[in-house]
This record gives sequence, C-alpha cells and structure tokens, in this order.
Amino acid sequence: MAAQCEARSDGMHVQSDHFYPEVIDPETGNVLDDGEEGELVLTTLTKEALPLFRYRTGDITALHHGSCDCGRTTVRMDHVTGRTDDMLTVRGTNVFPSRIETAIYAVDGLSSVYRIDVRRDGSLDTIEITAEVERDTDVDREGVGERLTEALETELQLTPDGVRLVDPKTIERTEVGKVKRLYDHRDLS
Ligand SMILES: [Zn+2]
Repeated sequence: MAAQCEARSDGMHVQSDHFYPEVIDPETGNVLDDGEEGELVLTTLTKEALPLFRYRTGDITALHHGSCDCGRTTVRMDHVTGRTDDMLTVRGTNVFPSRIETAIYAVDGLSSVYRIDVRRDGSLDTIEITAEVERDTDVDREGVGERLTEALETELQLTPDGVRLVDPKTIERTEVGKVKRLYDHRDLS
C-alpha cells in the first residue's frame, strides 16, 4: 500500500493510483488537513471482489500532499505513531499515549518508566503524568519537571494538570516486572 521514501526517512509514499488515503479525527470523523495527526482511512480504487470504501484502519498518522524531495508527487504519509484504541480524549483534546512517551524520552534525567492518570473532577477531565527519575544520577528535579511539562505541552497541545517525578523503581510493577502505563479512572464511575 505504501513504500519507504528514498529521500526522507520519516515517511512513506502511498500508491495513490490504487489507494485513496484520508486522515480523520477519530472522534468526529472530520477530514483533517495535511500534517495533522489522526486516523488513516483507506479507499481502494482498483481492488476487485473485496473493495474497501473509507475503511478505518485504526492507525494514527498524518498525510502530506504535494511534491517531495525525492521527486514523487504521490501522497506521503508519516510512520504510524499509534492506534486509535490507545487514544484518550481529555477536555475535548485527543491525546495519544505515544506522544507522552516521546516527551518523556526527550527529557534528560528520566528513566523510561512512567504512568498516566486520567480522572474526572466534576465535569472536567484531568491528566497527570508521573515519571521516574534516572538511577544513580543527581537530578535537578525542579528543572527536569519544568522541561517535562514544556515537552508535554508541545507534544499534546494541552497542559497537564500534574507532573510528578518520583524515585527510581517506585512506580508499581506487575509480578513479571511490567508497568501498566495508563490508568483511566473515568471508566470506573
Ligand atoms: Zn519522497
């Protein structure tokens, strides 16, 4: 359906003569503009017997029309960054946990372990991020916390209600050492 662009490592060219791609807001179904991240929807143009019409793939990506550095004019799509199943809606904004991970990886002084807590406070959603600081480093927690908040605002287009930094190995692990990353407490009410 798509093949790696030879000039840009961040995208693939869709075989537009066989597939018509669109990216929509998974909540509203509205078609999004170029560069806006949403759910990939595909229509097959040449497939016989089992054609698909605006098939919702569940994959999160963005499209770019126009010519590319490699000279191709077919639609370029970003690499898939997540699944709509993982998407949260917080105060009307679509939040992808993969974006939170990107923000955490971008800040020095943090380990890769974190958790997301989403709650409903009255009629308002709140989102809190808890991240573990790296082991064996003398981390300036205040500075790291500020940088993480900034990175989250950039990635999410939303200001988190809380950003907490905790000691290494203090976020709850399961018996097999895995970390549950998302706690959506709104489901319980
Ligand atoms: Zn290209």
